[in-house]
Amino acid sequence: MQRRGFLAGLMAGGAVCAAGNAFGYEVTKSDAEWKALLSPAAYDVLRHEGTEAPFTSPLNNEHRKGVFACAGCKLDLFDSGTKFDSGTGWPSFWKPLPKAVEEISDRSLFMVRTKVSCRRCGGHLGHVFDDGPKPTGLRYCMNGVAMTFKVA
Ligand SMILES: [Zn+2]
Repeated sequence: MQRRGFLAGLMAGGAVCAAGNAFGYEVTKSDAEWKALLSPAAYDVLRHEGTEAPFTSPLNNEHRKGVFACAGCKLDLFDSGTKFDSGTGWPSFWKPLPKAVEEISDRSLFMVRTKVSCRRCGGHLGHVFDDGPKPTGLRYCMNGVAMTFKVA
């Protein structure tokens, strides 16, 4: 919590207090509002850090030019030009769009992983690993259900 507050404060600056938002996110809704807005699968991933079953997202096979956006608040997250086939069964990218995501260290499940969430609504998207392709060497392993695709 402390780290999240610190990061959010860094990014949003004084706007955190002005917005009266404890977490510093621009888009906030109650749990009930999110539940009504999202599909059950998207709600589980975005709001409760669930993980979709691999090889189930239609976005795995999305190869058109366009942008992958947050299913919760519609913020653009990844350009199709940074998508690659990781073979993991989850849509994977080597770089997010500028100011699209926030990354928080996650020590659950006896591993140190880095959680990736939407910068604007705090929705959980997936994790980032350091075994990705060039040029960044990063692999953003995303839950497809947490995103929508907009054709360019
Ligand atoms: Zn969002």
